Amino acid sequence: MTPTNSAPPALTAGTWSAPGRVNLIGEHTDYNDGFVFPFAIEYRTSVALTTRDDGRISVRSAFTHGEDAVDLALTELDAIFPERRDEIVEWARYPLGVAWALLQATGTDPASVPGVDLTFASDVPVGAGLSSSAAIEGATASALNDVWGLGLDRVALARAGRRAENEAVGAPTGIMDQMASMLGRVDAGIFLDCRTLDAQVVDLGFAPAGLELLVIDTKVKHAHSTGGYGERRAACERGAEIMGVAALRDLEVDDLARAQELMDDVTFRRVRHVVTEDQRVLDAVATLRSDGPRAIGGLLDASHASMRDDFEISVPELDLAVDSARAAGAVGARMTGGGFGGAAIALVDHELVPAVTAAVEAAFATAGFAAPHIFTVNPSEGARRDA
Ligand code: ADP
Ligand code: MG
Repeated sequence: MTPTNSAPPALTAGTWSAPGRVNLIGEHTDYNDGFVFPFAIEYRTSVALTTRDDGRISVRSAFTHGEDAVDLALTELDAIFPERRDEIVEWARYPLGVAWALLQATGTDPASVPGVDLTFASDVPVGAGLSSSAAIEGATASALNDVWGLGLDRVALARAGRRAENEAVGAPTGIMDQMASMLGRVDAGIFLDCRTLDAQVVDLGFAPAGLELLVIDTKVKHAHSTGGYGERRAACERGAEIMGVAALRDLEVDDLARAQELMDDVTFRRVRHVVTEDQRVLDAVATLRSDGPRAIGGLLDASHASMRDDFEISVPELDLAVDSARAAGAVGARMTGGGFGGAAIALVDHELVPAVTAAVEAAFATAGFAAPHIFTVNPSEGARRDA
C-alpha cells in the first residue's frame, strides 16, 4: 500500500526575528554595484504572527506603542503601492511593503493566501545606522514566506525587503542591509558583491584576537528620504556616466587620474571615495584572512577619512567619536551607515573598552554634544523562526 500524501498542517501562528547589522567596511558602495562587508548583530526585531480568515493584514508595533496600527485587505496592497503609499503611516509601509513585494515577486493572488496579524517588538536602536529597517523587513519576509508557503530563498527575501524600502517606503537604499540581516552568522561577516549578490561568509575572529567591536551611537538622527543621500547617489551616477561605465564598481584605483581630468572636483571626490572604498573592502577581507582582525585597523581609519573628506557625509559628532576612540587606543574606527548622523564603530582591545568608552563620553561632554550611547556588538545569526 502506498502511503497517502497528506499536506503538512497549515502554519497559523509563530514568531520570527531578524537582526540589525553593522557595516564593518564598504560604505555607499552597494548602490554602485560594489563590495560591502557587514555583519548581523545580536539586536533583533521580532514579529508575532497569527493568521485570520478574512483576507486582511494588520500591523502594529511596540515602536509606536501599538498606536498607528494599520488594517487593510490583502487585495488592497496592489492599489496602494507604490503610487498611493503616502496614505499609509510611514512605519507601516515597511511590513506592508514587504507583503506587497512578496506577493508581486511570486505572482501570488492575494485572495489565495490567509490574512495575517503582525505584531512587532524590537531592541534594534531606530535611526542609529544599525538598520532597524532591514530588521523589520527581514522578520516580516521570513514570517510571510513560511506562513504563505512561498518557498523563496534568503536572497529573494532580501530583494523583497529592498523593494519594499525603495518603492513602498520611498527610501532609495541598496541591498546590503537586507542581505546582512538575512545571511548573518555567528562570529562572521558577510562579504557581498552587490552586483552579483554573491555572498561569502568570512570569519571575523574578534574574540580570539581579544577584540571587541564598539558602537558609538551619536544620537544624531539621519533620514534616508531627505538630505544628502540622494545627492550622493546622483553624483555617483554622473561619475559613472562621464567615465562610460555601467557603475563605479567598474573603475579601478588606477582609473582615478583620468577621472580627475574629466570631472568637476566634487564629482571626482565622490567617485574617489567609492572606488577606493571598494578596494578597501577587498583589502579588508584579504587582510582578515591572512593576518587577522587586528590588521584591519588602518583600513577602518582610511575609510573614515574618505567619507569625511571626499564623500562629505560625516558630522562633527561622528568625527569626534572616531578621533577620541582612536586617541584612547582603538585599533581602528570609522563612521558606519549612510552618514549625516547615526553611529561610529571602533575595534577595541577587550581590556580597553571601559577606557575608550570613558574617553569618548568625556570628549562629547567637553564639546557640548549630547551624551552618546556606547555598547559592544557581536556578529550574530541572521533571520530565523524562533517559535
Ligand atoms: P535605520 O534602518 O538606520 O534604523 P531607517 O530610517 O532606515 O533607519 O529606518 C527606521 C524606520 O524603520 C523607523 O523610522 C520606522 O519607520 C521603521 N521601523 C524600524 N523598526 C521598527 C519597529 N520595530 N516598529 C515599527 N517601525 C519600525
Ligand atoms: Mg535603514
